[in-house]
Amino acid sequence: MTWNEPGNTATALLLLGRGTDPASERGVDCPGDLPAPSDPDLVARATAAKAALGDRVFVLGHHYQRDEVIQFADVTGDSFKLAQQAAARPDAEFIVFCGVHFMAESADVLTTPAQKVVLPDLAAGCSMADMAVLGQVQTAWEHFEDLGIADDIVPVTYMNSSADIKGFVGRNKGVVCTSSNAKRALTWSFEHGSKVFFLPDQHLGRNTAVLEMGFDLDDCVLYDPHKPNGGLTDEQLRDARMILWRGHCSVHGRFTIDSVREVRERVPGVNVLVHPECRHDVVRAADYVGSTEYIIRALDAAPSGSAWAVGTELNLVRRMALAHPDKQIMFLDRTVCYCSTMNRIDLPHLVWALEELVAGRVPNQISVDEDTAHHARVALDQMLALP
Ligand code: SF4
Repeated sequence: MTWNEPGNTATALLLLGRGTDPASERGVDCPGDLPAPSDPDLVARATAAKAALGDRVFVLGHHYQRDEVIQFADVTGDSFKLAQQAAARPDAEFIVFCGVHFMAESADVLTTPAQKVVLPDLAAGCSMADMAVLGQVQTAWEHFEDLGIADDIVPVTYMNSSADIKGFVGRNKGVVCTSSNAKRALTWSFEHGSKVFFLPDQHLGRNTAVLEMGFDLDDCVLYDPHKPNGGLTDEQLRDARMILWRGHCSVHGRFTIDSVREVRERVPGVNVLVHPECRHDVVRAADYVGSTEYIIRALDAAPSGSAWAVGTELNLVRRMALAHPDKQIMFLDRTVCYCSTMNRIDLPHLVWALEELVAGRVPNQISVDEDTAHHARVALDQMLALP
């Protein structure tokens, strides 16, 4: 079956600014002297640079990356699998991370001090990770302490958060989670406290608590860092079981219940498969929900001739559709839905980064300070130790 490219999006996707942006997880502008995108030798240049570096370099590619970049990845995966892969290659001097900033930070936290993690474009950040800034989170925690409820709360952060936030969670006896193990992380947390403070993705927190753990929607409150006391009364905070940070993924948050209704009318018998970063009503209306790795496994295992509408990033859905021409795999929305920050890593940036390494310079190194890295590692190790 043929892949139908979605139409142009009606609303402009997030446009990233240029120049320094110290308040943002995505860092700063790329300082590189980039090759032109029209250079016909880009593939040959990347191939040659990678060959020249040999085993000294290990290239990681997130599933949402462009095909032009993925072709050079030594391994592909979701953010946690890639960080683990980086840690499993202590002999590689350079880890070139084709993904976004928080992922490169996690790789730096989990690799040896001698290894250098490189992000080909420093402007490749994550809008969700940017929604939780350490100062805001500390302010919220101090409020919980003033209310006398902090000792009852276990902080949990999604992998998609800055190293600062993971460090905060590690310092406060919490845990990191992924979209694959969120239920296990919440189960462990409720064995160690009566409330969870879930950062930064409200949707993953709510979907896991309500749909997988049996909590009521009324057990969840939304903490808005832009409002005094999160926009919540003391009583609401005291009564809540799940305190959800007001953050979301700008890609998965675009799917609506109308997208689900529309595809069900258009394609009778279609299976709707979505990521748990989607809104609660979308996840409720879907047939299947799961992490990126789950989505890939489900599509690989789907019977020939079956129809699937998939609510996740477009590069991945297109790649899966082209890999399975015997199945009808389509994008859940009618309009494009790339992760614009993931897309910052293109072939010119990868060529530039690899050629700089060949020349003996380390470009765009991502380095987490030792204290933050130590506490982030505590929270990551706690995740790895989850029963
Ligand atoms: S898809 Fe969403 S969560 Fe993932 S990097 Fe892009 S903005 Fe962040």
